[in-house]
Formats: sequence, C-alpha cells, structure tokens
Amino acid sequence: MSSSAQARRLRHKTGSSSATASEDPRINARTGCALVTGGSRGIGAATARALAEEGWAVGVNYSRDLEGAESVVASIEEAGGHAIALGADVGAAAEAEQLHDTVSAELGPVLLLVNNAGVRADGLSARLDDEAWDHVLEVNLTAAFRLTRRVLPPMMRERFGRIVNVSSVVGLRANPGQANYSAAKAGLIALTRTVAAEVGRRGITVNAVAPGLIETELTRDIRANGADGLLGAIPARRPGTPEEVAACIRFLASDEAAYVNGAVLPVDGGMSA
Ligand code: NAP
Repeated sequence: MSSSAQARRLRHKTGSSSATASEDPRINARTGCALVTGGSRGIGAATARALAEEGWAVGVNYSRDLEGAESVVASIEEAGGHAIALGADVGAAAEAEQLHDTVSAELGPVLLLVNNAGVRADGLSARLDDEAWDHVLEVNLTAAFRLTRRVLPPMMRERFGRIVNVSSVVGLRANPGQANYSAAKAGLIALTRTVAAEVGRRGITVNAVAPGLIETELTRDIRANGADGLLGAIPARRPGTPEEVAACIRFLASDEAAYVNGAVLPVDGGMSA
C-alpha cells in the first residue's frame, strides 16, 4: 500500500477521531466516509467489512434488518474499524435524502458510495404487475440515481470520489422471469457509464460489478429449486461468495483503481463469458 493511499484511508477512518488525527501528521482536516446501501447482510455486509478493513468509516444502511446491520457494525468495531447502522428505505426519496444527511453529519461527506440495496419480485412479463415493476425499479435503480446525484457535489468539491453500483449478470443477458430486475440492472449499467463520463475529469470514478449466482438470502430459493441446472451454466461450477464480490468492490474503491472508470466487472465464475 502506498503512503498516500495509507494516509487517505487513515484520514477517512479517523474522520470522527480528532485525537488520532492530531497525532498523525499525515492526516489533514478533510474527512469522509463510505455509505453501503443494503449493508445488513449478503454482499453489502461483506462489502462494509472489506471497506472498513481499508480504513473507511462506514455507514451500514438497512431497511428492515436492524439486527443484521447492528451485527455488521459490531464485527467492524471489534476488528478496530468504525461504522454506524442507518435505517432507511432507499426506494423512498425522503428516506434516502435523510440517510445521506445523517451519515454525512455523523461520519463526514460520502466519498465512497456503494449502491448495493436490491430486491427481486420475479414473474413472467405477461403476468408482472405494476407494483412488482415499480418496487424493483425504485430500489435497484432509482435509489442509486438519487443517491448518486446527492453525493456528487461533495465529491466534486473534494476532487475525489468512488461510486460502485451492484448490477447483475442479468443486466448483461436475458433471464426469463426477471424483466423488472433485468431492466433495473441494465439501467444501472447505463447509469454507471453515463455518470462516469460526466465526472471522470474530477477525480471521481463510477464503476459497476455484475455478480452471477452468489450465496445470499436473495438467491436462497433459486439455489434450492434448481441449482444443478444453473451450476451447469457456470464455468466455475459453483456459486460465488459475498466476499468474492466484496473483494472486487474493494478494488474499484481503491486508489489503485483510479484509472478504472465506467467499467462493468462480471463476478460470475465465467457465466457471462
Ligand atoms: P440480500 O442478502 O437479500 O441483501 C439485500 C440487502 O438489501 C439487505 O441488506 C436488505 O436489507 C437491503 N435492502 C433491500 N431493500 C432495501 C431498501 N428498500 N432500502 C434499503 N435496503 C434494502 O441480497 P444480496 O444477494 O446480498 O444482494 C445485494 C445486491 O447484489 C443486490 O443489488 C442484488 O440485486 C445484487 N446481486 C445479487 C446476486 C446474488 O446472486 N445474490 C447476483 C447479482 C446481483 P433489509 O432486509 O433491511 O431491507
């Protein structure tokens, strides 16, 4: 790890600790934090832990799973990091705004945003109702846009920022029964590329990961009902782990990834190859 990278991470980590900051001459007054939406379990929880290991103070968002979020925060604090749990339905505009304001007030400006919160409501298109369409689009796509819009001004002021969007392999290829989810995840890729082109000259990068089949609560039913057929479509012949996705997000958030912008990184065991 380079000394400038170390200084930046320490600066983020110690943003709320003036005692530590004053003891370390490398740390200046600038503070910032990471916000992980849907951080209470699965990929978001693994990502929050990975970013905390990098020195980021982390806002761990959840909408209902308070217990999960609190256990992620506890594990980060036990490991010597700093995190807070923040309840908000990111699909609701006012709650997302409040989430941003609270984490900024508690931990400093959001300089790393991971738009990870996601839901499914599957059904063949002929039977997919408006509610299932709207909810999936609101949480997976519109929330990511609103939070991106909200964090860009502080990132521009800082001339540093990282946004990582958690898309999906189904944003790249068809998956019958997921028109709403696929449209949201494909939209997230288009959003990623567009915003990356808009802000790239300001020291901000915007990238996406596109996970395949990952072992989380979200895919418990899929894995239980047809894992054998699915595994046959995955060259690695196994599902991925949340930690394997988190490792990619950690890289995209790093100083070392400063020249990676507008990229979509499949994390799918070769499924989309
Ligand atoms: P998960 O285990 O079900 O976790 C989803 C997280 O999102 C939870 O923390 C959940 O917390 C939160 N969440 C859901 N709705 C929310 C809302 N309205 N506001 C705030 N938080 C909300 O799912 P996961 O597999 O880790 O999925 C994480 C991301 O990866 C999603 O975007 C998903 O689409 C994407 N992904 C997953 C896979 C996979 O195979 N697992 C593959 C491709 C992409 P609450 O319960 O508190 O709401």
